[in-house]
Amino acid sequence: MKILVSNDDGYRAEGIAQLRAAMASLGEVTVVAPDRNRSGAGNSLTLDVPLRLFESEPGIYYVAGTPTDCVHLAISGVFEFEFDMVASGINDGANLGDDVLYSGTVAAAIEGRFLGLPTIAISLCTVPGGGRHFDTAARVAQQLVAGLMQRPFDAAMILNVNVPDRPHAQLAGFASTRLGFRHRSDAVIPAKNPRGQPVYWIGPAGAGADAGAGTDFLAVENGLVSVTPLSIDLTRHAALPSIGRWLETL
Ligand code: MN
Repeated sequence: MKILVSNDDGYRAEGIAQLRAAMASLGEVTVVAPDRNRSGAGNSLTLDVPLRLFESEPGIYYVAGTPTDCVHLAISGVFEFEFDMVASGINDGANLGDDVLYSGTVAAAIEGRFLGLPTIAISLCTVPGGGRHFDTAARVAQQLVAGLMQRPFDAAMILNVNVPDRPHAQLAGFASTRLGFRHRSDAVIPAKNPRGQPVYWIGPAGAGADAGAGTDFLAVENGLVSVTPLSIDLTRHAALPSIGRWLETL
């Protein structure tokens, strides 16, 4: 069992060290992760410059690229062996609802979708002043991946896992969830650079707008580990007939 571990917080992040340790009890782990924090990178590939892979210590590699670059390199010819699955995280912060569109943590898991086993993106729902219980999320990841190894399901499955930031004994259990939706983001935050030119910070994500029954938001709020199965097909199948009729009116 060969497990590729990646993330978007960078190869030196606390979360990836904990995930690597948890996965090492289940298989042979290789880490390939960005050289720095690339949170928000989404599913992006670097196509304009070549990528180099550096080894920081045996089995831990970093790339000056995106999470998707890292997984793509790792599973597309850099190594002489094939990986069985990708585990991405443990992200420092939740990836709930529309976060999955921007998340490099989720993107790394998605890039591993062609491998033999379902992939998993795992995020700890850290908040300022919280406990930062990465050990809790690491135990959850271990439990889930052990389950996937023993009882694998659909090979195309991508699991987006969000873990409440609390001691493991205080988790309320698991919940299978759907993605909720966030409110529109806060406005950008204007500032001036040292030359007096206007610059802008992207503001924080909005609060949960659809955080109701069945959502990932609600599960985490209730102390449950949220497990959302993701699909790659973004087609809005239910809208195909109405779009077809609308096109005929042009
Ligand atoms: Mn991140």
